Amino acid sequence: MIYLVEHFYSIQGEGKYVGTPSLFFRFGGCNMKCEGFGCIEKTDDGTEVLGCDTVYAVSKEHFSKNWASIENAQELLNVLNLYELPEAVDIVLTGGEPLIYANDPIFIKFLEVLVENGHNITFETNGSLNVDFDEYPVYRECFFALSVKLSNSHEPLSKRVRGDTIYNIASNAKDAFFKFSIDAESINLGLEEELSEILQHSPKTKVYCMPLGGNKEEVELNTEPLIEFCKVKGYNFSDRLHIRIWDINKGV
Ligand code: SF4
Repeated sequence: MIYLVEHFYSIQGEGKYVGTPSLFFRFGGCNMKCEGFGCIEKTDDGTEVLGCDTVYAVSKEHFSKNWASIENAQELLNVLNLYELPEAVDIVLTGGEPLIYANDPIFIKFLEVLVENGHNITFETNGSLNVDFDEYPVYRECFFALSVKLSNSHEPLSKRVRGDTIYNIASNAKDAFFKFSIDAESINLGLEEELSEILQHSPKTKVYCMPLGGNKEEVELNTEPLIEFCKVKGYNFSDRLHIRIWDINKGV
């Protein structure tokens, strides 16, 4: 079963394609929890759930009653008719972790139609779930923002860094880049070694570093130290435009 949490038309707020008008599909469910990010979301009954800034799209147990169950590809394609969109608008598939649906026939059909119609598709993925590029060649036409999780996520290393998966995606996708969420504290706590451990699996893939934070204040606090880090290392700094502009508001 595919779960769709929300869709919205906005600009891409982070990473290589920042500023590009994009139609976002946020899928429900993830293979991680990332409680280290320390964001708290309340359920309808007031239960506080700890996780990342999209915990409402991660925890099936607590939030899935607000998610839409998708029965066929056309339901997803119909979303494009709900907006006034430019021709072949960019599509961003995010979550949660959209690649938990990577082998689902409904999902594959959805991707195939989008590619046939000339859309660029970017996956925002944690880069830990493999993609079968031979079985599903449509993935060769897609872009992948590899947001591989660092130790600040509190996920175990063996789960969050899958070298074979990173290499496979970076080698076969139409485009791929690394995108990391970094807080000021981590910069002084062995961040360089952590990044090297990940980047060795695809050394030529570009790196974008974004300030960690689930709200505007946290993002602002982490921004300047991160810019200094990027200047030293030669990585690209990526803002988190949507948080800076719309703060904690969802669906923008
Ligand atoms: S992998 Fe991404 S979506 Fe999943 S819990 Fe971690 S930060 Fe959230």
